[in-house]
Amino acid sequence: MEAKISEIFSSYQGEGPFTGSRQLFVRFYGCNLNCVYCDTDIKSYKTFSTESLLSKILDFEDDYNELAVTGGEPLLHADFLFAFLTLFKKHKASKVYLETNGTLPDNFQKIKDLVDIVAMDLKLPSSCGSSKEFWKEHKKFIEVSSGKELVVKAVVTDATTMDDVKKMSDILAGVPNEGTIILQPVTPIDGIVQDADPEMLSYFKEYIKQATGREIGVIGQIHKKLGIR
Ligand code: SF4
Repeated sequence: MEAKISEIFSSYQGEGPFTGSRQLFVRFYGCNLNCVYCDTDIKSYKTFSTESLLSKILDFEDDYNELAVTGGEPLLHADFLFAFLTLFKKHKASKVYLETNGTLPDNFQKIKDLVDIVAMDLKLPSSCGSSKEFWKEHKKFIEVSSGKELVVKAVVTDATTMDDVKKMSDILAGVPNEGTIILQPVTPIDGIVQDADPEMLSYFKEYIKQATGREIGVIGQIHKKLGIR
């Protein structure tokens, strides 16, 4: 079994509550979405078998806390991931940290038992610049994540609408109390996507807090500010 991998590198997590944690990143190639703020539009890849990917990973120093499985959308490769993570866990005790757009709950179900931490995005159509909605998929994804350490993140831009924030709040009501909810102000891309207005961001945060009764974190992309991968 083989999969296309864009990058394998060691760095620090730059998003959410695991910011600063040393991780070994495996970036899978390809995505089922096309978010306007996407910063991982990588066109090159190498093809790996489960064994060759493990061998490559074992070449890295053992100084990471988690293996970060990211993309693109890694759950497009769920069958490969099932085989690879089964193999990985036979050799390493590191936790597996899955970064996903949260739109493929059935694929996640296939590998759920091999994942320790789930960092899922809630894709707001107004933030993503898309007419596609994934509320049903996101709701199911949160249900499937039951029992896992869960981080749910939504990117906020100057185009994010209150209507989407209200719909998101309904979904976030399903996040278990131990889960973490983060609003991530977008990293602007010149002429394409602009900073969220700080007052709107604050208003969204308070609205979601009132609607869900939960604390809401606001954390930007730290790795971009530090100029690291
Ligand atoms: S889901 Fe992530 S990788 Fe895919 S297009 Fe959106 S930002 Fe990019």
